[in-house]
Amino acid sequence: TTTTIPGLLPAVADFVSTDRKMLIGGQWVDAASGRTFATNDPATGRVITNVAQGEAADIDRAVAAARAAYEGPWSRMKPNERERLIWRVGDILSERAEIFGQLEALDNGKSVAIATAVDVGWSADVWRYNAGLATKITGSSVTPSMPFAPDQQFHAYTRRESIGVCGQIIPWNFPILMATWKLAPALAAGNTVVLKPAEQTPLSALMLGEVFEEAGFPPGVVNIVPGFGDAGAALSAHMDVDKVAFTGSTEVGKKIVHAATGNLKKVTLELGGKSPNIVYNDADLDAAVAGSVAAWMFNHGQCCVAGTRMFVQRDIFDDFTQAVANAASQAKIGPGLDPTTELGPLVSQEQFDRVSGYIQQGLADGARALTGGGRWGDEGYFVEPTVFVDVKPEFSIVEEEIFGPVVVALPFDDEEDVARAANDSIYGLAAGIWTKDVSKAHRTAAKLQAGSVWVNQYNGFDTALPFGGFKQSGWGRELGDSAVDHYTQTKSVNIAL
Ligand code: ADP
Repeated sequence: TTTTIPGLLPAVADFVSTDRKMLIGGQWVDAASGRTFATNDPATGRVITNVAQGEAADIDRAVAAARAAYEGPWSRMKPNERERLIWRVGDILSERAEIFGQLEALDNGKSVAIATAVDVGWSADVWRYNAGLATKITGSSVTPSMPFAPDQQFHAYTRRESIGVCGQIIPWNFPILMATWKLAPALAAGNTVVLKPAEQTPLSALMLGEVFEEAGFPPGVVNIVPGFGDAGAALSAHMDVDKVAFTGSTEVGKKIVHAATGNLKKVTLELGGKSPNIVYNDADLDAAVAGSVAAWMFNHGQCCVAGTRMFVQRDIFDDFTQAVANAASQAKIGPGLDPTTELGPLVSQEQFDRVSGYIQQGLADGARALTGGGRWGDEGYFVEPTVFVDVKPEFSIVEEEIFGPVVVALPFDDEEDVARAANDSIYGLAAGIWTKDVSKAHRTAAKLQAGSVWVNQYNGFDTALPFGGFKQSGWGRELGDSAVDHYTQTKSVNIAL
């Protein structure tokens, strides 16, 4: 069904050589409607393969399969059995890191080296971390002492139980990693899942779907239904789904909350950001330049945590922003499948138009581009890395999430000044601080309204560290052991002795 793409590993070439189906109840099936949609190579715009297009009817089937598995074999599995299965997924991902990495690079456009090491390598680690948590979900015992029952003895304890059938809706920027962040803790806690990958990048989740049977999961524990927003909407509104977890835009996050009101299913959200990256004049400036470029250029700026508001202390502003512009302009731009690529294409035509629109608006508002400001090449969805100065707080390029390789630089005078400016956002996902003064770093970290603060580094994620948003950046936390908290509910049992 597709044109041959040169350089693919046999396993990847084979995977994309046929149309891909959806995973429901352990079976690979077509959409009820028979419809399919194309997924494209962002470096060329060409079709990679076609994928079954899940809609409400398919979500219904998948939820029924997840319910049957939840009430059936999965509920009889002991935590240490779940642990072994989840661990096995991590091992299979490690064994096939190059295959998954190349498929991810092909579908998303990111560099194959990054996809293999970061997206797939880290995913394997997250699977194993959550495998360990499966056996460590504990309640507590409590001695009740109610004043109105002074003579009665009680024995009471809490149980942390799974929630049930979980709907999980993920974006296209880190497809397999977002599938992993969501699936691994849900399964560790004993839930079953219907996962809806993003329409731009369904392939790695579908390949991951093949791993569950191999690892020994009962059918229906993980169901994967690719499709568009309507499939996500059906999942978030479904009356037999007990929880929905979403990563994506704040705009869609609000729709999910509304859709969830029917049965008041639990909701966790990882949403947008416009994260501040603060550079004090006493920072290690070489490290700060490199780290500040990575803050907004990593993954071509398609990161919810991207440090896209760069606050630089006034006395170093001109030199620092010029150094950032110089470093950014030297990035090697190219297709993701080229391992030397540093900046790949944006994921889709829509994203390309959106990011280009913001750049045009910034220029029209009077911002000055120290570098970039246009398209790169004449095919694919490439945008030049762009550094804007001379911006005002009310410009759309300063306020809104762009999701491309675009940063705005703003000068500041002192600690108070920068904390206020940095917090002047509807978002509160992440923040960076560059300084050699430890006290100043801690003071600033405490003042920032952000779920993650990274000092003298950016993108300082860790499997064991909770991640999530303040303000309109989200509800709940992923990673760490807090992820499992959001996939359990507490029951109190009180026994009169
Ligand atoms: P982006 O703007 O970065 O593409 P979105 O928030 O639009 O991100 O999409 C993230 C995920 O949410 C995708 O899987 C998409 O299909 C899904 N989605 C889009 N609209 C809805 C909706 N109304 N309800 C549920 N999911 C949706």
